[in-house]
Amino acid sequence: MRRVLVAGNWKMNGSKAANVDLITGLKAGLGDIGDTEVAVCPPFIYLSSVAEMLDGTGAAWGSQNIAVPESGAYTGETSGSMLNDFGCTYAIVGHSERRALYGETDQLVAEKYAAAHRAGIQPILCVGETLEEREGGITTEVVARQLDAVLSLEGVESLNEAVIAYEPVWAIGTGKTATGDQAQEVHAFIRSKVAEQSADVAKGVRILYGGSVKGANAAELFAMEDIDGGLIGGASLDAAEFLKICSAGS
Ligand code: PEP
Repeated sequence: MRRVLVAGNWKMNGSKAANVDLITGLKAGLGDIGDTEVAVCPPFIYLSSVAEMLDGTGAAWGSQNIAVPESGAYTGETSGSMLNDFGCTYAIVGHSERRALYGETDQLVAEKYAAAHRAGIQPILCVGETLEEREGGITTEVVARQLDAVLSLEGVESLNEAVIAYEPVWAIGTGKTATGDQAQEVHAFIRSKVAEQSADVAKGVRILYGGSVKGANAAELFAMEDIDGGLIGGASLDAAEFLKICSAGS
């Protein structure tokens, strides 16, 4: 049985005051969301204060990025061992915004995935197609390519300590959610692709859906056989909405 995970990607949002409000709101409702696992991924500068606020709640936290090297002359970077110093559970790698805005290639994403593993942090590997790619009929080709980069560097067994997030780029921050059936089709494809290398790993790996998930559509998505929770952007900044999504997973 795969435990549902709902992870909030705050992106470059938040402030000291807003974070206190958001975490206070979350803490008030975490007892009412059943067995769903919850994680939040704030900007780097707020990670340790959010970690302190979450202490004892059972909610996990993660970073939105991770450096490939472990230390040294890499101005502006943050390594896995530094994250681990604070008890980091997850690191998002390969988010479409980093691929599109910061030129992250499949190879670099795979190296970041490997860096997270080296530090004992579970990567949340984002994959997904653009609108143009979907309309061109190459969704599965794109997703397979993104996944293969990681599998060939780290091997299928690495997915025992990782999470995959299918995030169609056309659905991120646009208000256009994939339907349950549209998402399920790609999730089933991803699981079958993993199963080609290991049926056991495929059975256990959690595949989250991301792209304009809200309290109102989460239940339909999470009811799908191969959808094991969500990676939530905008709606994770509103405690009540995020908790509604978490409840939909229980
Ligand atoms: C995301 O950025 O990972 C995301 C899914 O964003 P949103 O929920 O705002 O579409």
